[in-house]
Amino acid sequence: MAAINVTIWNEYLHEVQESAIREVYPTGIHGALADGLGVNADFNIRTATLEEPSHGLPDDVIESTDVMLWWGHMGHHLVDNKVVEKVRQQVLGGMGLIVLHSGHYSKIFTRLMGTNCSLMWREANEKERLWNLEPSHPIMAGIGQYIELPAEEMYGERFDIPTPDELLMVSWFQGGEVFRSCATWRRGHGRVVYFRPGHEEYPTYRNPDILQVLANACRWSARTVNIKTNDSPNVAALEPVPGATDRAVKAAQAGSGSVGT
Ligand code: ZN
Repeated sequence: MAAINVTIWNEYLHEVQESAIREVYPTGIHGALADGLGVNADFNIRTATLEEPSHGLPDDVIESTDVMLWWGHMGHHLVDNKVVEKVRQQVLGGMGLIVLHSGHYSKIFTRLMGTNCSLMWREANEKERLWNLEPSHPIMAGIGQYIELPAEEMYGERFDIPTPDELLMVSWFQGGEVFRSCATWRRGHGRVVYFRPGHEEYPTYRNPDILQVLANACRWSARTVNIKTNDSPNVAALEPVPGATDRAVKAAQAGSGSVGT
């Protein structure tokens, strides 16, 4: 089986700017994810961050990615719209996208969802219990009845997302709220996964169960096709069409492109 090209994108601002966060993730959230997912022999892992040229996502990297993970928070507005559009086109063409935690407000997620993706939140070191709703789904492989995290940020409903194609996990928080924590959507030929845990103050991305869900999600959403969907060609008929107008025949023969019908 060919290796899966996994690109882990992290804005990498909290870890640089705040020493307490750097203690939790000395090599950045992307570094921890690369270590945790790197034990899987079928993954070929790259990382990319906001400050790199093209945010670490030049065309050749985006185009050769089978699945991209996206962690962002304070720097959503700093992400270049041109890069976002290239990533979006890759998703529509078949690339997988796994949006993590505060990535709910990222440009790429809100554009793919078409909704505001707002939610309630609270930072109070709360216990989180993520209940496994679909044990037979490939993303839940190896996961028990629930995953328990001793301390996390709370996210509560209502999460302003379109109804997911598949809802795999619901979180319960100590303070009483619940949240749709693991959900999937198809967009074009691509598969999109949202996975909630991963606030920067907690070592959540070293939790074996969390890493298992992410590895499963990488395999489930990895690209199987690469199909451009942003062109609408005017094509010649495969067989003669007696009723075709001269204009239609000439336009198709000239390959006059995608404007109008
Ligand atoms: Zn957070």
